[in-house]
Amino acid sequence: MSYEQYHSLWNKLGIDTQKITVGVDGAIKRHEEVFLTQNNRPSKMEYFDEFWRNLQTGRIAELDKLKEQGKPLVGTFCIFVPEETVVAAGGACYGLCSGSPASIPEAEKELPRNICPLIKSAHGFKLLKMCGYTQSADFIYGETTCEAKKKTWEVLNTHHPVHVMQIPQKKDEKSMVLWGKEVEEFNTHIEEVAGRELSFEEMKNATEIINAKRAALRRLDKLRGMYPDIVPISGKDGLLISQISFVDEPTRFTEMLNELCDELEKRVSQKSSVFDSDTARLMVLGTPFAAPNWKLHHIVETSGGAIINEESCIGHRYYKDDVELDGVGTKEELTAKMMQRYKKIDCACFTPNEERIQKIVSMFKEREADGVIYYTLSFCHTYNVESFLVEKALKAEGIPYLAIESDYSPEDAGQIKTRVEAFIESVKAKKQAKA
Ligand code: SF4
Ligand code: SF4
Repeated sequence: MSYEQYHSLWNKLGIDTQKITVGVDGAIKRHEEVFLTQNNRPSKMEYFDEFWRNLQTGRIAELDKLKEQGKPLVGTFCIFVPEETVVAAGGACYGLCSGSPASIPEAEKELPRNICPLIKSAHGFKLLKMCGYTQSADFIYGETTCEAKKKTWEVLNTHHPVHVMQIPQKKDEKSMVLWGKEVEEFNTHIEEVAGRELSFEEMKNATEIINAKRAALRRLDKLRGMYPDIVPISGKDGLLISQISFVDEPTRFTEMLNELCDELEKRVSQKSSVFDSDTARLMVLGTPFAAPNWKLHHIVETSGGAIINEESCIGHRYYKDDVELDGVGTKEELTAKMMQRYKKIDCACFTPNEERIQKIVSMFKEREADGVIYYTLSFCHTYNVESFLVEKALKAEGIPYLAIESDYSPEDAGQIKTRVEAFIESVKAKKQAKA
């Protein structure tokens, strides 16, 4: 495909047009293979498919318009970013490319091989100048959630400005004081980039916009998982929508997602499922699925299973809580409420992190799921170590459990498929015995 109309934009951002053309063509082809081969997809998925096709073209042009107006553009790899502040300044806060194996060899010229693929993939995209989102960003938001990330920021900062926020490791009072100061510092930094002070009204409006986006994602989550006899949309499509939620314009995204949910509600009322009734309904727990990491979902949903929820940052952990606005009348009160909301994120970087385990068990029961897959990206020590306690809690409840550790390469796909198929068979046998 020719992207000639975007060449001048890509050149302006320092992007190698030849390399990005190959990357975009590959991403579109892979999307066709994984998504467009599914049966009985909701018609409203068309918006999200089209968005994917325009990921490095149309959406980058939109961001460029904001940049020309002096609005801040902030790239992130973590849901601890106070995105409401960026939106209040009229800017965009978005996830950066970090889910592809293609950029990893380049990253390994500067970073060790034995760190998580998400970090290496992102770093490689910067070195290759192949991600329009990274190239457009005024700064990249970094956080200290894991060892590999916090040291990578120092290396990445030699290529692109990075603003690092210190994320507490505990949720006690003194840690929250530190977190409060970090949020205030981030807000000030955004005001510096925007060149003006933000008003309370702007902050409140932006919070409403992001709360509405989270509400729409919760609506989708409910439709995917809360009807034991009907799965109105595939897990793959659910994942694609979650991934797009990190890069799309939030108001438009919310509107399009609510339209899709209206269609899914009709499907539920008409008992129209995209999977057979004996399909194993599975939850996936663990590390984030940055686009285009669709490997596990594709394997599960071509092996007799359906994924009904991601207990992940690209998933439930991102949208489960809103910033409460009732009775809030000043910027200081709003910042305090933002902190309370961000404190509820149950990332494995916290110790202890018991609320996550309790939440997983209750989510499983609410959804009447059939089993869980605990997914860890290779070398992600926090989620990997925490899996011991999660497994113990799930086994105590008699919940079928499978642990998968993987990276972005396609090489282990066959081996994972064999294990997933065996797991699904055992889950189905248990389901039938129960019935
Ligand atoms: S898993 Fe933790 S570090 Fe990773 S995106 Fe989520 S909150 Fe951030
Ligand atoms: S997946 Fe784990 S190792 Fe990778 S960036 Fe997130 S917290 Fe760090």
